[in-house]
Amino acid sequence: MSEKHLLSKTSFLKSVQCQKAFFLYKKYYHLKDPLPPEKRAVFNRGHKIGELARQLFPGGVDVSPGHVFKFAEAVEKTKELIAAGQEVIYEAAFVFDETLVAIDILVKRDDKWYAYEVKSSLKISQAYVMDAALQYYVIKNSLPTLEDISIVNLNEDYVLENSLDIHKLFKTTSVKKDAERNVDFMKHHIQAAKMTFYQNELPQVSIGGHCFSPYACDFMGTCWKHTSVNNVFELSGVSKKQAGEWLTKGYLHINDVPDEELSGKTLKYVQSFKKQEELVEKPKIREFYKGVTYPIAFLDMEFYTPAIPKYKGKKPFELTPFLFSWTRLNRVGAEAEEEFFFHDEESNPEGHFLKRLIELNERVAKILVFDTGQEIAALNSLVRHHPQYKKAVEQIKKKFIDLAEIFTNMWYYHPMQKGSTSLKKIHQAVFGKDIYENLPVNSGILASYGYDEYLKEPDIFKKQELKENLITYCKTDTKAVLDLFVYLKEVARNPDESGHFN
Ligand code: SF4
Repeated sequence: MSEKHLLSKTSFLKSVQCQKAFFLYKKYYHLKDPLPPEKRAVFNRGHKIGELARQLFPGGVDVSPGHVFKFAEAVEKTKELIAAGQEVIYEAAFVFDETLVAIDILVKRDDKWYAYEVKSSLKISQAYVMDAALQYYVIKNSLPTLEDISIVNLNEDYVLENSLDIHKLFKTTSVKKDAERNVDFMKHHIQAAKMTFYQNELPQVSIGGHCFSPYACDFMGTCWKHTSVNNVFELSGVSKKQAGEWLTKGYLHINDVPDEELSGKTLKYVQSFKKQEELVEKPKIREFYKGVTYPIAFLDMEFYTPAIPKYKGKKPFELTPFLFSWTRLNRVGAEAEEEFFFHDEESNPEGHFLKRLIELNERVAKILVFDTGQEIAALNSLVRHHPQYKKAVEQIKKKFIDLAEIFTNMWYYHPMQKGSTSLKKIHQAVFGKDIYENLPVNSGILASYGYDEYLKEPDIFKKQELKENLITYCKTDTKAVLDLFVYLKEVARNPDESGHFN
């Protein structure tokens, strides 16, 4: 029977981040926060990419335990397969120093073993290197003929041609040297985690910047439960490290931070918060509105960003617009005319999307968008694939007016923005209500995953529901832009020129 394990890769990484998080994970698992939908979606994507990468080394045996409590069986099965001469094993599991790891792909060549960990990202982060270092430490001590360990991730330069070429889609980078450099680190932290576990006392660790780095801790629902709202960690544009330093000095609430600690925009955020006063530069806003000539359209686009390119000519994670919501206004107060485009077929949406976008926008003078960056990047990419629309797309881009400029330049700032310039946060700050709260799709990331789900869903009723969720989210974004546009126009019209108003 194999050695019993106390640590897994997940619990080890928790112990490196925070001994309390490790202790809670091992002994009070039920206190763990629910997995946010975005994280769940990323996790599922990682799983699918892991399976695809197996095709790089076909013919392997999968020893995944199927259940988290059956890892001992996976360890035994791995040993048996190695002894029997199996040369490719998926999810091979090992235990050493009471630490269990599994590796996505283990391959034998010329009597030596090579380990491959698959990541569904374009870049190799330091956190991934640490994952691999732990795997190397455990596997090398269990299987001395381990020659190398590599991270297999997505190649950002790969372009899909007629069919998927997985040998070009993935790239492989050895991280053996980093792993060897970290052997002492692994030993030290494994011992520290064991001590925490066997001492059986909840480590006294205060909240701080470490709760967010390298991962947002999933025990914040427990540790942060009694932390006041409007704490310094809620300030956008301030690093968690900086917020942690303020906390160490005793500044927990935004109101506690003395002005001397602040500069630039952060000083303005905090001063506005302390006084609970909006900041308004009316002349600037009026100047902005001079450029708005009617009829105007409010536009929001949603993008599909599959990790594995789905359409010819696309790279991993490249933007493909599949949905837009469009509202035309002839003047403020006039009845709004709403339209949307949703591509409900398997084919590449781009041609249809562009055609409809061009048709609608021929009828407006200006197009109001919140943060044009993504839209312009997507349109530029569309034109590369559909050069016949170049002129029309240039016309659309010329009509764009970016409402976000008012906020990024701080011509308007609401104290409850707490430094954020996201549309969702600004709308909530200004109107005191989160209009996204009950939406099943309420972020761009979920919209991208939602479209993927929509394309794969065979049940027509579920498919319809997914479609409606996506359209509702997109329309909500357009409504938020329209609401803010009307609100700011009113604010700028106010005769009080003091710069602050209630
Ligand atoms: S929330 Fe912070 S202090 Fe609490 S367990 Fe997590 S990392 Fe540790």
